[in-house]
Amino acid sequence: MAKVLYEKDIQDAVLKNKKIAVIGYGSQGHAHAMNLRDSGYDVVVGLRQGKSQQKAEEDGFNVLSVAEASNQADVVMVLLPDEMQPKVYEESIKDNLEQGNALVFAHGFNIHFTQIVPPANVDVFLVAPKGPGHLVRRTFEEGAGVPALYGVHQDYTGEATAVALAYSKGIGAARAGVLETSFQEETETDLFGEQAVLCGGVTSLIKAGFETLTDAGYQPEVAYFECLHEMKLIVDLLYEGGLENMRYSISDTAQWGDFVSGQRVVDDQTKERMKSILDDIQTGSFAKGWILENQAGRPQFNAINRRENSHPIETVGRELRELMPFVKQPINAKKKDVN
Ligand code: NAD
Ligand code: MG
Ligand code: MG
Ligand code: MG
Ligand code: MG
Ligand code: MG
Repeated sequence: MAKVLYEKDIQDAVLKNKKIAVIGYGSQGHAHAMNLRDSGYDVVVGLRQGKSQQKAEEDGFNVLSVAEASNQADVVMVLLPDEMQPKVYEESIKDNLEQGNALVFAHGFNIHFTQIVPPANVDVFLVAPKGPGHLVRRTFEEGAGVPALYGVHQDYTGEATAVALAYSKGIGAARAGVLETSFQEETETDLFGEQAVLCGGVTSLIKAGFETLTDAGYQPEVAYFECLHEMKLIVDLLYEGGLENMRYSISDTAQWGDFVSGQRVVDDQTKERMKSILDDIQTGSFAKGWILENQAGRPQFNAINRRENSHPIETVGRELRELMPFVKQPINAKKKDVN
């Protein structure tokens, strides 16, 4: 079994005297900067001018240009959008890294797919929280944390692992568990998880269910509750106690339906297609497509995004959520003001 480390297993002395630059103040950036500051670390934020800069200043941070923050810091955590990182690294970070500094990521994409090639005389590691940035902050404030993976790509100082662990503890991840990985494993499993299961898989499953019901003439409101709203209630049970716990809570009728029908939706052919998605990730074919899509100004991303946002499930969902004040304002609305 993989070795999972907790707070008691991790020394923080190795990071205590170091200055940390958090580059970017979006979903992950604000959470890392605030959690590290609350853990007693010396944090500066590196940003371009704009809304994020205002927000970071309002939160009481010393906000510098990306170049200046990288220059001052010993540890540079890159929390920019993945597709922006290579350009900003070339222009503002690379020349400000000194021998023995640490260059850190929360996702392995740019190192693994060689979009960023750091100099040999710095440490390079990742600390990747396995959850959205807003929960990295919220759970920290609640005394808990989001688990994280850490992995070392380059250990120049001999201290890279110790610094990565102390950093993980500083953002609260060691309260939930910290697990060793490689850039390759983190990158490939993260991309696969979000494409096949968590994001692509779930949204496609929800839409297919909703469309099947509405095409058959059922009310969209009923289909929305059944296929989207209830998803959270089921996922909470899965999160708390796995498949068995969820099945314990549902009726035996639902559990029987789960057993006989679930495998008709996700069958061996679905798994074959999952394998081909994984293959596209492993061969770099997905990465190449995404890099080119960005270079082209995101024509396909923007077109699909527009179409998805006007799907009937979204229209009916907006109306129903208005009438459920206990359903929290979506993170997206908050995220917009920090970008
Ligand atoms: P984000 O889009 O929420 O925030 C990016 C930040 O970078 C913003 O503050 C933005 O203003 C700033 N920025 C953008 N372009 C810039 C530029 N040219 N110069 C200076 N600042 C610029 O990003 P995010 O979702 O927090 O992702 C950051 C990293 O964390 C990525 O590597 C991502 O894969 C990883 N990650 C994210 C999540 C998540 O919850 N969103 C989870 C795990 C890992
Ligand atoms: Mg420096
Ligand atoms: Mg992920
Ligand atoms: Mg990801
Ligand atoms: Mg039901
Ligand atoms: Mg039951």
